[in-house]
Formats: sequence, C-alpha cells, structure tokens
Amino acid sequence: MLRKMGEVDIKLGLKTVLSKIEQASQKRIPELQCIKPRLVAVSKTHPNNFIIEAYEGGQRHFGENYVQELVEKANNQEILERCKDIKWHYIGHLQSNKINKVLSIPNLFVIETVDSKKLATALNQKWPEFGPPDSKLRVMLQVNTSGEEAKSGISPNEIVNLTKYVYEDCTNLELDGIMTIGRFGYNPEDGPNPDFLCLKQCRDEICQILGVDWKKINLSMGMSTDYEQAIEMGSTNVRVGSSIFGYRPQKA
Ligand SMILES: *Cc1c(COP(=O)(O)O)cnc(C)c1O
Repeated sequence: MLRKMGEVDIKLGLKTVLSKIEQASQKRIPELQCIKPRLVAVSKTHPNNFIIEAYEGGQRHFGENYVQELVEKANNQEILERCKDIKWHYIGHLQSNKINKVLSIPNLFVIETVDSKKLATALNQKWPEFGPPDSKLRVMLQVNTSGEEAKSGISPNEIVNLTKYVYEDCTNLELDGIMTIGRFGYNPEDGPNPDFLCLKQCRDEICQILGVDWKKINLSMGMSTDYEQAIEMGSTNVRVGSSIFGYRPQKA
C-alpha cells in the first residue's frame, strides 16, 4: 500500500459525510426523525493508518468486503491497541469455506450479506464455537433488489421466508436488518432509487407478515454517490467509502 496519509484529509471527509447525513436526516418524515442513521466507513483496499485516522476522528463502524483483508486488518496489532471499540461489518459475498475465518476475527459486529438458507444455517451452527457463551451473531439479509444475475442477494420474493427461517430456526443469530447494493450507476436525480424503494417494501412485507416492529429492522442502503437520498428514503445504515477515504485503487 503505497499511498500515504496527508494526500487525503480523512477527518475532514468524515466530518463532511456526517454533516450531510445530519442534513439528510432532517428531511425525513416525522416518524423517522428519532432514528439516527449509522455510518459504516468502508475501508477496503485502504491501509491501516487510514482506519486509525478515521477512528481517532470518532468513527467506530467499519466495513470490509474481502475476507483476507478483513482478517488481516482486524488482527493488526496497532488497530487492536488503538481502536479498542472498533466494530467490523463484513459486507462482501461470503463463501462457506471462509465462514470460520470471518467468525474468528476480533470485534466482528455484523455480517451484512447473508443471502441463503444454507449460509444462515452454517453461521447459526458455527457461531457457538467462536462467540462468547450465549451470545448471538448479528446478521443482515442481503436482497438482490435489482434482479441482476451477477449480484448476490436473495430475491425479494423469498425474503419473507428467509427472515422467518432466521427468526424461527436460527437461535444463534440476531436479525439486525436487510441490505441491498442496488444497480450500479443509478442517478439519484432521476427520482427515488427503485432499489431503495424495493428494500423498503421488503421490510414492510416482513413486518406485516411476521408481525415485527419496523424499527427493529435496519435498512442498509446507500453508498458514496447516493447515501443522502437513501437516508431521506429511510436508510438506517449507509456504507460509505470513497467520500471518506478518497479514491480507491483497484484490487490487483
Ligand atoms: C465498496 C462498497 C461500498 C462503498 O462504496 P463507495 O462508493 O466507495 O462509497 C459500499 N457497499 C459495498 C457492499 C461495497 O462493496
């Protein structure tokens, strides 16, 4: 990792994003006013000192989407010593053979990308080997709201069933919310993002059919280009990378 800090002012980036989140929050409908959206700083491909810098600026939730990179960063001595209260979100596609690696990291907060019964089952079975006694692993269910074949995520038609399965059969999992990545390159100026509308609809259906309070189901939607719109539309968890950390070099 060749880039040095100083080329990009991370604390300023963070402050700017937080103030835009605050402004977008104030435009929400009254019943959403009491909910403060959670900012996940997506640090993938960026060096450890970027993470420490953001942590020192007050940021606690960080997201990574490559297993090996998450494992290295979460176990890094300097991060462990200087970022004691860090909360890691795994936001990448999770293959069964990598589950143990993710579950073994220190300070794992949530896996945002559970998208099948098979994966939920495996996480539920394995968590007791890794977590503190009687704890639950927080998960979000990823929905493929755009229907693109290349995207991971369960289809909106199946989300209620998967949610029901997690509630009823996965006693070691705690459902934190649902998540979408959405189609690439949607222009927020073209109107409400259909992926955000779809995710919200999924939540409404879950709440109606399973009798769950909507406030208990976080909506993870919105990235650098559209987090403000996502928040206005009800997002409670935005995943923002480049607006905080600057340009992201391509993974080799
Ligand atoms: C990289 C990534 C983000 C952040 O993207 P930016 O455009 O840099 O804000 C958010 N969510 C997921 C799942 C990602 O992989």
